[in-house]
Amino acid sequence: MKSYDRLFIGGEWVEPSSSSIFKVVSPTTEELIGSVPEAQNADVDRAVAAAREAFEHGPWPRMSPTERGAVLTKVAEAIRNDMQGIAELISNEMGSPVAWGALAQVFAPTMILDYYAGLGSTFAFDTVKDGLLGPVMVSKEPIGVVAAITPWNVPLFLACAKLAPALLSGSTVVFKPAPETPLDANLLAEIFVEAGLPNGVLNVVPAGREVGAHLVNHPGVDKVSFTGSTVAGRAIGAACGQNLKRVSLELGGKSAAILLDDVDLDVSIPLLLPNAIMNNGEACISLTRILAPRDRYAEVTEALVEQVRAMKVGDALDPATEVGPLVAERQRDRVENYIRIGQEEGAKVALGGGRPEGIDKGWFVEPTVFVDVDNSMRIAQEEIFGPVLSVIPYDTEADAVRIANDSDYGLCGGVFTADNDRGLGVARQVRTGTYMVNSNVPIDFSSPFGGYKASGVGREFGEDGLELFLEKKTINLPAGYTPKV
Ligand code: NAD
Repeated sequence: MKSYDRLFIGGEWVEPSSSSIFKVVSPTTEELIGSVPEAQNADVDRAVAAAREAFEHGPWPRMSPTERGAVLTKVAEAIRNDMQGIAELISNEMGSPVAWGALAQVFAPTMILDYYAGLGSTFAFDTVKDGLLGPVMVSKEPIGVVAAITPWNVPLFLACAKLAPALLSGSTVVFKPAPETPLDANLLAEIFVEAGLPNGVLNVVPAGREVGAHLVNHPGVDKVSFTGSTVAGRAIGAACGQNLKRVSLELGGKSAAILLDDVDLDVSIPLLLPNAIMNNGEACISLTRILAPRDRYAEVTEALVEQVRAMKVGDALDPATEVGPLVAERQRDRVENYIRIGQEEGAKVALGGGRPEGIDKGWFVEPTVFVDVDNSMRIAQEEIFGPVLSVIPYDTEADAVRIANDSDYGLCGGVFTADNDRGLGVARQVRTGTYMVNSNVPIDFSSPFGGYKASGVGREFGEDGLELFLEKKTINLPAGYTPKV
């Protein structure tokens, strides 16, 4: 049991304004594993005030980017030193298979922290050039107080994707983690304290949607960095538009893997599968639509079903587990509802569709493969967020591209082929922010990541991810003056 009775605000663990708590329950055992105070509007007000004070008067924005980067490096080291422990904590919170989690939930965040720490000494925060009318300096300054709002599916990863660049910029942060995963958020605060982060630079307010909306609308917040559902993203984008508040949105996806007619299935299915059912299917970038050439449809389905069937379902903490339980009972209800909808729409279940045999506790759903899926069906258009794949036939390469693009979303995707040039040609035609050509790497932390269409606004990672937390100021200089930068 890991229980907190205080909130991390202004560099201290303070009394919450109410006695409400969030209980954290293991999706595998359905047992209580911890609790935290549920932050209320008054706690958010206090956190924003602390972040504002640290921004206006504290040392953090005035330190050099290299000094700020050194704190990120210490945080990365501390996380790496407890990789297994943190992976187990996150698996206990939300059901991620621990072996996958050690890499994606824990090691990946250290790569993100290290990358931004490195940018502290290489990124050009100030540049001087000859403008059209005289010398000009362009200065990139911290954006101010940031509200960072994240979902539960890759909690530490998404926190670091926001905190690392926001903090490197010199901004200060009010971080609102999801109610399902507040324990790793508090642990991260403890690690930042150990690493020497000044008071008020990071504040953590575990809260639900309404209090989240209060944070978004707070006049003391300069920028909202949100990851979550497209429905919430629309509401947050609208609220920020109304207040002319800076906002970036990382939202849902319904990505397609295109298997071209020359594909070697022995190579390609193992390459795409980890990105199709990663994190129990609870991943925005999952390749949940598998597009197969009609004359190889049976062969693709057979190979896919065989390999999905071989995936080990079980306790999230068992290192052999490849598919764990879904985050909550309501998420299992949602996924089972989609499985029903798919059948009602006329798709056929080629594998799974129920609950795994022999497991009588936990919110498990069998890994499920639908065949005879038409792209207009709801199971092909809507984000299910569970281990459910749809195999969709196509006739020509152009048809495959058309189907891949026939989606409200545009987050990720991949093409698998014996011909890399042909694959790159397809990649250029698919309207998504990230793409894989015969690759199993969906995100490169040194390069922009984000959504076309309803998958988001803005790009995280790489220098773009830092620019999300910078305001640009152009300073016109007198002729003959060259400042030191
Ligand atoms: P959600 O939108 O319900 O909640 C996400 C977070 O936002 C939570 O902390 C929640 O409390 C908060 N929230 C919700 N409504 C809010 C509002 N109006 N104002 C302020 N805060 C609000 O999403 P979820 O179901 O928890 O997470 C799954 C979703 O996240 C999926 O759609 C998934 O695709 C998406 N996601 C996207 C990315 C990406 O990088 N594009 C990464 C991971 C997850």
